[in-house]
Formats: sequence, C-alpha cells, structure tokens
Amino acid sequence: MLISAPAIASFQPPKRILMGPGPSDVPQRILDAMARPTIGHLDPAFTDMMEQIKTLLRYVFQTENKLTFPVSGPGSVGMETCFVNLVEPGDKVIVCINGVFGGRMLENVKRCGGVPVVVNDDWGAPVDPNKVAEAFAANPDARILAFVHAETSTGAQSDAASLAQIARRHGALTIMDCVTSLGGTPVLLDQWGIDAAYSGSQKCLSCTPGLSPVSFSERALDKIRQRKTPVQSWFMDLNLVLGYWSGEGKRTYHHTAPINPLYGLHEALVMVTEEGLEASWTRHRAQHDALRAGLAGMGIRFVVDEQARLPQLNAIYIPDGVDDAAARARLLQEFNLEIGAGLGALAGKVWRIGLMGYGARKENVDYCLKALQAVL
Ligand SMILES: *Cc1c(COP(=O)(O)O)cnc(C)c1O
Repeated sequence: MLISAPAIASFQPPKRILMGPGPSDVPQRILDAMARPTIGHLDPAFTDMMEQIKTLLRYVFQTENKLTFPVSGPGSVGMETCFVNLVEPGDKVIVCINGVFGGRMLENVKRCGGVPVVVNDDWGAPVDPNKVAEAFAANPDARILAFVHAETSTGAQSDAASLAQIARRHGALTIMDCVTSLGGTPVLLDQWGIDAAYSGSQKCLSCTPGLSPVSFSERALDKIRQRKTPVQSWFMDLNLVLGYWSGEGKRTYHHTAPINPLYGLHEALVMVTEEGLEASWTRHRAQHDALRAGLAGMGIRFVVDEQARLPQLNAIYIPDGVDDAAARARLLQEFNLEIGAGLGALAGKVWRIGLMGYGARKENVDYCLKALQAVL
C-alpha cells in the first residue's frame, strides 16, 4: 500500500509590504527575471552571466578583489564561508559583540577552533574603536578582527574604516558582516582595507533570500593558501569553490549553482548600477528622515543615538501600554504590513522598521506611518 497523496493545492502567497529586517520588498522586475528559462550551470551563456555578477558585485562592494562572488546560500552561509576559511585552530580572533549577529560570529570562531577575545558593547551602541585598540594591545598575537558593520538586531552602524585601520596596524585581517549595509549605506571595502566581507541578497539589494555575496582580499587569500589544516567544510572550502567561480581556465563542477535566483541577483545588481550607488544611499537616508519625522510626531523614541543610526533599519521603543504581538498581528492582518520584532535582549521592547532597497520609498514610509497611527 502506498501512502496516499495529500490534497494540497498550489501555494498563493498573500501580498505583503515588507518593512522588517529582511526580506525586503522584491520588485516585479526581479521576480520576472527569475522566471526566465532555466539553463545549464556550465552553459557558456550562464558562465558569462556569472562573470557579470562578479563585476557588478565588485562595484557594489567598491573593491577590485578578484575573489568576489555570491555564495550559494543565505547570509549565514557567507558568514561561515569567511570564518571556516580564515580561522584555523588556535588562531586568536578579536570578536566585537553589540547585538545578535556579533554573537553568531563568536559561535563561528569557537566552532573553527579559534581562540576568541570578546569586545562587548551595549546593544544599540556602535562598536567602540578604543576598546578594540585595547584588545589588540593586550593581545598582540591576534590574527583577525571580526565585527558587524550594520547590526540589524539593534539598528546601529559601526565605524568600519576606523576598526579596519586598527586591525591593519596590528597586522591582523578583518572580517566584516555587511549583510544589512550593502547597497543601503556606504560599504567601501578597498578604501577601508577590509579583507573578508559577506552580505545577503534579501536586504538592501531587494532580491529574494538565499544568496550571499562575499569578497576576499589578496591578503585573505594568502592566509587561506598557507593553512596548515584543511578547511573543515567541503562545500565552503574556497580552494574548491574557486575552480567553479574563478573564471580562469576550465570551469569545473563543484555544486549546481541556483540558476534562477542568480538571474534575480543579476537583475537586482543591474538596478543598483542604473540608480547609482550614491543615489541609493541618498534615497535610503531621505526615506529614513521622513520616517523619523513622522515617528517623532507620534512621540516614538529611537533605540540608537542619531550619529550611529542605520537609515535602513529603524529600531524604535514600543510605546508604553502597547501589546507587542497584538499590534504587529493587526499590522499584518489589517494592513498587510510586516515590521520586525525585537531580537535577543531587545525582544518585547522594540520594533524594527526596515527601509531596505526597493522598500525605501515614500509610499512605504507614508503607509507605515498611517498603519502605525491606526494601530497605536
Ligand atoms: C540577516 C542578517 C544575517 C543573516 O542572513 P541570512 O540570510 O538570514 O542567513 C547576518 N548578519 C546580519 C547583520 C543580518 O542582518
């Protein structure tokens, strides 16, 4: 006897307005690109597109790093790719924690057998460069500095240029999480001297989730080439992935790239070039200013001090007497509007309103303010 087929019809998602911490609204143009015919991943037309994605990513990362490509997996896989390749057992790594995602970096360092030195900052504050300098002074043998540029759990942006400069001064490499910053606020890998960076497709690039753009400097590659132990992950071992993504010589099968999602990323990146990176940063800032003015009018307070605030991720205190879950459920049911709940130490205390990528538009800001007014 066979198990009988379940009576389930095609899935029709509701139409939502996504103003949380990601995924962000995906423009129809990107969805259309993803619906184009699937071709083979070793088809010359596809490999040509892969090369274009690398070129486009170098532009959004502002880097000339040859090893710049999208990892087949969400931002978390990009994060692991950086850590498993760069951290060898016994390596001392200074890890900055000012929110949820810094905590994940620490977990990665431990699992790679690294020796973590933790620099803690308050949730909602940026990473303090003075504390990082002290950590290097106390640990001159530290080989790597890891920090989150844009902490999506709190809405704080750290001074990546200063942090990377401190690492350079001590001969250490830098791993930077720019999942939420890429495309929304300046990410200048080469100018800042960042050695390894990972991002995500579904935040300010407004593509669907599941791809993680990464970039590695020559210094980072040197460290990977000089490893004494093999990378413990077969899938993420850059020595192997390189044969697939490098574009030099014969392209060899490593894994099957997610063909159609990559069409989507290609389209998303083309859209960034059409708008221009600087125009995109300006648009995110302008929509943040409009949202902030509206929220101020409602007496709502921000979690992060003005100078460290991320325009694309607005963490606000839930007004007194408001039921967190009930209010967000009403926003979803009555307004089809998704905003983010608080994470970790901020759970139940804050909401996170995303203005990411295609979501950073005036109509979204106006709609969100109207919906909040109705619900509060
Ligand atoms: C969203 C996010 C991640 C994880 O990305 P996923 O695609 O969910 O795996 C990592 N770091 C930061 C700062 C993020 O905002």
